[in-house]
Amino acid sequence: MAVERKKEEPTKDDQGVPPEIDTHYQMYGKHAWEVEYGERCPACNKRIDEFGFCACGSSQ
Ligand SMILES: [Zn+2]
Repeated sequence: MAVERKKEEPTKDDQGVPPEIDTHYQMYGKHAWEVEYGERCPACNKRIDEFGFCACGSSQ
């Protein structure tokens, strides 16, 4: 008789990005989808995040 073993697979993160390779997480301490955004930058018209960064960087 063959004994079937149930392998326990590690639960994968829903977002699929491990923190160790998530550079955004390493830089800001939170994931990109967790960052709160405020008003738009007048230069590049992208939303400025809570750290004061936007796409062009002129808001700094
Ligand atoms: Zn900008």
